[in-house]
Amino acid sequence: MADPNRRHAQNVSGAWFVDTRCISCDTCTDVSPEIFGRDADRKAYVREHRPDEEALFRSALESCPVEAVGDLEDPVSLRVRG
Ligand code: SF4
Repeated sequence: MADPNRRHAQNVSGAWFVDTRCISCDTCTDVSPEIFGRDADRKAYVREHRPDEEALFRSALESCPVEAVGDLEDPVSLRVRG
């Protein structure tokens, strides 16, 4: 589950995000380079919201090995701190 309190600073505003626990595995950026970009350290972030590509976003979210991809509109994808 992604942590909305640790959003990567380069995410575009909006519900979709990557948090700073990304391990630079390149899975999401390979799944959809239109949605996900890489910073200078190869950490991923959401570069563009593409509602027309939501299936690809979901695929990346479910494929991330460290669950660093989140959707603020999908509580199941989020790490909630008690
Ligand atoms: S799939 Fe997860 S760990 Fe891999 S680059 Fe994307 S956000 Fe980072």
